[in-house]
Amino acid sequence: MEMIDIGVNLAHRRFAEDRDAVIARALAAGVRTMIVTGTSTRASREARALAAAKRGTLWSTAGIHPHEARHAPPAEIEELRELARHPVVRAIGECGLDFDRMFSSQAEQERAFAQQLALATELGLPVFLHERAAHARFVAILREHRSRLPGAVVHCFTGTAAELDVYLSLDLHIGITGWICDERRGVPLRALIPRIPRDRLMIETDAPFLIPRNLADRPASGRNEPALLPHVLASVARAAGRPAEMVADETTRTARAFFSIGQAGDH
Ligand SMILES: [Zn+2]
Repeated sequence: MEMIDIGVNLAHRRFAEDRDAVIARALAAGVRTMIVTGTSTRASREARALAAAKRGTLWSTAGIHPHEARHAPPAEIEELRELARHPVVRAIGECGLDFDRMFSSQAEQERAFAQQLALATELGLPVFLHERAAHARFVAILREHRSRLPGAVVHCFTGTAAELDVYLSLDLHIGITGWICDERRGVPLRALIPRIPRDRLMIETDAPFLIPRNLADRPASGRNEPALLPHVLASVARAAGRPAEMVADETTRTARAFFSIGQAGDH
């Protein structure tokens, strides 16, 4: 069984001490390919360097997270453009809107989001999207760019059935994290999994965040890692009513097509 983790923050400082061991455990668990998320120009630069050092296993995205949008002057977008020229960079993002915690103002977030959608269009890259408590504005801005974007995935989807239907009507892909493993918060999400077409569904850990809460023995650190992706897969498969092997195949095929990645080991 082979899996692709489409969202892992391997450049995060919580992996600084033991990143190689984390990658080795992921590979041993069947997670053959990981897309390292870029959340700022600095993190995107680190993500790209990690991916360039592990060609065929790691790939990366280049983007500015809505929390970081206040640090997104034109020079930062220019740096993303440069970063994204490297062949290991397979998407722009993560980008989007997050009105839940408002670390950047709405105006700053919307500007950075629109700029990154325009950049992805210009470069012909798909986008890795983040939306929290901002559905209506997110859709309004995305709609203006959607027809020119080669692909778009709403990562860590945790929304309602109505929101999911809007995303699917915009031909978006849907990323599911260990949120689905949560005994309480995961219930509504599990009910929505059968609505997601097989060729639109992908899985991710969002490590070091969102450790699956149904783990028998959770590490004391509470740190999530890509080796735990099989737990996400198992919950998704159960909710979908399909065997885990089948969902692993489907999501792997979908992720390969979305990020234009060949077979494992390809450069
Ligand atoms: Zn996110």
